[in-house]
Amino acid sequence: TVPRLAPHATTIFAEVSQLATRHDAINLGQGFPDTDGPGSMIEAAVRALREGHNQYPPGPGVTELRHAIADVERASTGLVRDPDSEVLVTVGATEAIAGAVVGLVDDDDEVVVIEPYYDSYAATIAMAGAVRNSARLVLSDGRFRLDVGSLRAAFSPRTRAIIVNTPHNPTGAVLPREDLEEIAALCREFDAIAISDEVYEHLTFDGIEHISIATLPGMAERTLRISSAGKMLNCTGWKVGWVTGPAELVAGVRTAKQYMSFTGATPLQIAVAHALRHEQEWITSLRSGMQDRRDQLATVLEGVGFDLVVAQGTYFVTADPRPLGVTDAAAWCLELPERIGVAAVPFTPFVDTFADEWSHLVRFAYCKRPEVLDEAGRRLQSLT
Ligand code: PMP
Ligand code: GLN
Repeated sequence: TVPRLAPHATTIFAEVSQLATRHDAINLGQGFPDTDGPGSMIEAAVRALREGHNQYPPGPGVTELRHAIADVERASTGLVRDPDSEVLVTVGATEAIAGAVVGLVDDDDEVVVIEPYYDSYAATIAMAGAVRNSARLVLSDGRFRLDVGSLRAAFSPRTRAIIVNTPHNPTGAVLPREDLEEIAALCREFDAIAISDEVYEHLTFDGIEHISIATLPGMAERTLRISSAGKMLNCTGWKVGWVTGPAELVAGVRTAKQYMSFTGATPLQIAVAHALRHEQEWITSLRSGMQDRRDQLATVLEGVGFDLVVAQGTYFVTADPRPLGVTDAAAWCLELPERIGVAAVPFTPFVDTFADEWSHLVRFAYCKRPEVLDEAGRRLQSLT
């Protein structure tokens, strides 16, 4: 591994999932659902395989999928994107993020991230040979908010981009409009682009609304909006994601993407197009089910003695294990699968500059069937 990637050698998800498998633990570490997406989507994939859609799709993705993405985005956000030049299908959101950074950020350009952040952001900034500047979230009145002072301090005339993520992994926070407005104002002031990771766009709870920064004044022309079928349609293993934005920015991502994967899997793209057209009710219903799961796991964790921050969205809840006597959350997470048969991930891989403020926290995923969360609850009881 080259030195600039050495700090990112193995992801925490690979590490914890391997421990979970080895110890037959319930994996509340890596976030993936344990039920399938809509049956009609699976059938569409099988049909596409049988009907011979087994060669490369067009470079930017299956045409029908790009049209479906543009139509669905227009209905949910009002943004109007041309399916040919302003929509690009990628191998998961991961490739969209990497393509955006590698394709649009030059050597020594600066990229702002907000700690804690999804781990791939730091790794792709390193791949691009760019400089990462961190702002941070802070906990205020029981919810995570943007620390505006740190955001302002992270921007400079060399800032090319900020990576924004809401609903937010790992905290479960949903950034309110005021926070997004602060980010947008700095993007306009410094002529920076926003790379907006919205993979959990449909998973917000308690009536809280997801807002895309692309919809704020002056932002449609400087935002790449990224999403993924994985989280929307319970098919994380299909790796069908996409990015939308102004043609000149999407072109930059496309250039990089051509040499990362060239294209993704044709039959799966056809099936996701089918689901975006015909399964909007299924997508909407995912939210209420996930909110119930959140409440189920929160009750368990609170019963065991964790301090929690209520998740406003995503698959994840932030838990503070210090009331249980835990002094090293990262080490504790690595022991947990063997000790009690449950896996969780620490916050440490998601922080750097502000590590001291976050390293005591852990993240549990609740995107699991009720009976699985029940069993996890029984195992977690042994911590009391
Ligand atoms: N961004 C965030 C915030 C995520 O949680 C994930 C994991 N689903 C990704 C990006 C990567 O998504 P994908 O699996 O579609 O590559
Ligand atoms: N996005 C999921 C998570 O945060 C899975 C990530 C991964 O395995 N790379 O848990």
